[in-house]
Amino acid sequence: MKIGFIGLGNMGAPMASNLSKAGHEVTGHDIANAPPEGVNAATTAEQAAMDMDVVITMLPNGDILKNVAQQIIPHMKAGATLLDCSTVDVESARIVAGKAETAGLNAVDAPVSGGIGGAAGGTLTFMAGGSDVGFAAVAPLFDIMGQKAVHCGPSGNGQAAKICNNMILGVTMIGTCEAFALADKLGLDRQKMFDVVSTSSGYSWTMNAYCPAPGVGPQSPADNGYQPGFAADLMLKDLRLSQKAAQDVDADTPMGKRATELYHQFVDEEDGSGQDFSAMLPRFVSRRRP
Ligand code: NAD
Repeated sequence: MKIGFIGLGNMGAPMASNLSKAGHEVTGHDIANAPPEGVNAATTAEQAAMDMDVVITMLPNGDILKNVAQQIIPHMKAGATLLDCSTVDVESARIVAGKAETAGLNAVDAPVSGGIGGAAGGTLTFMAGGSDVGFAAVAPLFDIMGQKAVHCGPSGNGQAAKICNNMILGVTMIGTCEAFALADKLGLDRQKMFDVVSTSSGYSWTMNAYCPAPGVGPQSPADNGYQPGFAADLMLKDLRLSQKAAQDVDADTPMGKRATELYHQFVDEEDGSGQDFSAMLPRFVSRRRP
């Protein structure tokens, strides 16, 4: 396929590189970064979109996505697919899909889980929203960039799945970290805590696969000085998207709301920015009950 790739940052560059290594003709554009080896350079977004079978975007937020989509949609060939893999708000995803479909294109929103390691290793999980035809058109690309793709329904549903998942993740990480901090103060050894919880009803991905306590459980960012991994800043971004969506559809999400407040405090008012989202553990350990 001829593929345009717009947004060659931490995630986009390795994803574009994997598509090129699999034999696709990939042309990339980014306002700040040069394309990785094997990917042709386009000086404008329009150039990266023209005559392409699929144009993939991997951008920071919904406003930037909407601007880029407005630029490129008129230049895409009829029947081509616009595949957005960024994490953005559900509303922006649906607006962009509507504009693309009106112009005779397929549109798929497919945010990812798996982080930079998953992007480099081609092991991402895609959660996709869009038509059956659109999903089928890009499914072979999901197979290259990832290990699993779930078609979640119409446009915007990929983003809906992503923010619901990450709201659970944020809430669970906070629960796991505050429980470790409580266990410390109760004199319970962290390894014993892990041995019990990881095989009891408190188990979770944050405990079992991404344990926030250094030296306990499998290798995780905690064992690397809380270098991300998945940065607290990105967790805050996704929690904010969950709360915007909850507000738009009048959903009651009290735990999601509290998790958003705590990550906001950690990232914007304390020293959480740039640390992994599991660095909530030392944060709780250093605090007293308010
Ligand atoms: P990043 O900031 O490294 O990359 C974004 C890229 O977009 C940058 O290189 C930037 O120069 C480029 N860009 C910005 N505006 C542009 C424009 N108008 N035209 C062309 N390029 C433009 O971010 P990232 O970590 O690669 O994340 C990309 C998306 O993936 C985000 O939506 C993020 O929430 C999501 N995501 C990230 C991770 C992660 O672990 N990093 C995990 C899952 C999802």
